[in-house]
Amino acid sequence: MTEDIPSDHPRHDSLVTRHRIEAGVDAGITSRQGLIAEGRGEAFDYLLGEETIPSADDAERAAAAQLLLAEHPVLSVNGNAAALVPEELVELAETVGADLEVNLFKRTPARMEAIADHLQAHGAPDVKGLDADERIPGIDHERARVDADGIYDADVVLVPLEDGDRAEALAEMGKVEIVIDLNPLSRSPRTAAIPVIDNIIRAIPNITAHARSLESAERDELEAIVADFDAERALHEAEERIRTGAGQEQ
Ligand code: ATP
Repeated sequence: MTEDIPSDHPRHDSLVTRHRIEAGVDAGITSRQGLIAEGRGEAFDYLLGEETIPSADDAERAAAAQLLLAEHPVLSVNGNAAALVPEELVELAETVGADLEVNLFKRTPARMEAIADHLQAHGAPDVKGLDADERIPGIDHERARVDADGIYDADVVLVPLEDGDRAEALAEMGKVEIVIDLNPLSRSPRTAAIPVIDNIIRAIPNITAHARSLESAERDELEAIVADFDAERALHEAEERIRTGAGQEQ
């Protein structure tokens, strides 16, 4: 149980994360593949120092500016995201005026509904994804299914822990993609306009905090923040941190 982990335990956050994913699996929200994804994520997070590195903070600020500039932003939610940060996703959606859409790699009606219910129990007024009345071109299976008035119509999409194929297909549709992923070498963040190389647990609340502080900014200022963001550099700096520990406090 999460409450049993002492708060001064050196791996406290990582253990809490693991327990939330386990609970997500038990509740029918997270898939068994989600457990494997969690393991991969933990390894990268360990190497990143389990903190938001400065280039990730820049990416989170750019993500906030991009979401505020969007005409129709959508936050895509999978089983891991729903288990780890349901309330935080609802808060971000509220802050930037985005829709929440459940979008699963392995789609089953039971899991779609469990996630939608879970988000609603955490305060989401409306959750998309259940209609699934449109398709992302170029993707053949169930993974292609999205809501016509959700991701299909969006100009900016935030996709946490997305698979590489779908990330590429969304980019080809002309969507501006913000991808949260702890692995800077993975295809999805490499496809993104804004790759956020950080744990979703830290990334979502930090994007919300940036969005709140930018709420009254002019469009020009928001556009400049997005234009100044360098995706290549962000990926490079995360990889550097992982390979060399550069910039890590000892
Ligand atoms: P690739 O894009 O390289 O083909 P994949 O999408 O098939 O990889 P998965 O095994 O599905 O890889 O892993 C999902 C991704 O999610 C991994 O890159 C992992 O680092 C990332 N991930 C897992 N947990 C988190 C988390 N809490 N926050 C951010 N990213 C995470």
